[in-house]
Amino acid sequence: MAGLTPVAEALARVLAGAVPLPEEQVAIGDADGRVLARDLVSRRTQPPADMSSMDGYAVRAADLPGTLPVAGEAAAGRPFPGQMAPGTAIRIFTGAEMPAGADAVVMQEDVTRSADRATFAAAPRPGQFIRKRGLDFSEGVMALPAGTLIEPRKLGLAAAMNHAAVAVHRRPRVAILSTGDELVEPGTEPGPGQIVSSNAGVLAAVVRREGAEATVLGIVPDRLDATLAAVRRARAEGHDILVTSGGASVGEHDLIREVLRAEGVEPAFWKIAMRPGKPLMMADIGGMRLLGLPGNPVASFVCATLFLTPLLRRLAGRTDILPVEEDAVLGAALAANDLRQDYLRATLAERDGLVVATPLPVQDSSMIRVLAESDALVIRAPHAPAVPEGAPCRIIRLAR
Ligand code: AMP
Ligand code: MG
Repeated sequence: MAGLTPVAEALARVLAGAVPLPEEQVAIGDADGRVLARDLVSRRTQPPADMSSMDGYAVRAADLPGTLPVAGEAAAGRPFPGQMAPGTAIRIFTGAEMPAGADAVVMQEDVTRSADRATFAAAPRPGQFIRKRGLDFSEGVMALPAGTLIEPRKLGLAAAMNHAAVAVHRRPRVAILSTGDELVEPGTEPGPGQIVSSNAGVLAAVVRREGAEATVLGIVPDRLDATLAAVRRARAEGHDILVTSGGASVGEHDLIREVLRAEGVEPAFWKIAMRPGKPLMMADIGGMRLLGLPGNPVASFVCATLFLTPLLRRLAGRTDILPVEEDAVLGAALAANDLRQDYLRATLAERDGLVVATPLPVQDSSMIRVLAESDALVIRAPHAPAVPEGAPCRIIRLAR
């Protein structure tokens, strides 16, 4: 079959010209899920001074073993004022700044205390139980590069580096349109020949899980006026991407072409060498990207995973944009593949330390239940030979 575009080339076309969205400031507390637009440099040194990592006594190692007078106290946020005199000890608590003149901490369990004196049976190692100034990071160090996806731990680091706000990329704004004369919304009573639209909910959830904003525009029939109105609305509302599902059959292709011609653009259609999800469409309508996915629910989801998600990540400013592939072994034999790259719905299990991916026996691309019950996609290269159970394979884990 001529004219089938390889998956990698289709992805390159989808991403062509896509650059991160403009930056904006967000409060650090709202930065989870956002992507840094600039390298983040520490505004302070952590710890800011040598700190005790134990409750005990700050001492000079050279003074011990022996009994020392306890000359004062240091606690977190309440340092001992001045210099610790030689031959004395300071009662100290975890997180307290080390008194000047002390070079070790002895934990309280190893100290016998009576009134204002403390007895140490052994000499500590100099530096014992001290977190050195700058142990974690130093002022001026670039600890979070632009393109970093902020999650709770990185948010904590940014806050600890004393950033009250960070520069992030604006979130992609995505509109989702379901096209098809046969579609009705979930919860309605389908008439003869009608089916319940499930793709919009799936696509909106995928978009939101990527930290982007999703607006569901609803269902339009396969008619020029209705489709054109929805496309115009999506653009007028300032969406970065309009994702459509449906319109993959030949007559519907022509309809979408007409719709876009009315907008002055000629969409690119590709038949991709993959299964499920052969047809894909892309157009640029005055700065809004239209990504046309097939209506078939499994195809729509797999195409969203392979093409929409990387596009969203690119616009959001992420540098790691591709679905993560992992090694696994097959839980069932597979026949030789044809010229299309397969994404087989599979369940995962763990056996002898190996991840075993078992493709589900029926792979029809209309089967939402099979998709819902699968844990991963097994990737089968074009023309892959027949392989027995236990053969190595590559998988993409599906989000839970
Ligand atoms: P199409 O791409 O329009 O040719 O649709 C392919 C198949 O997917 C048809 O069986 C449609 O009924 C089905 N389909 C299209 N849109 C949706 C949707 N939003 N939800 C579920 N199934 C759909
Ligand atoms: Mg249709």
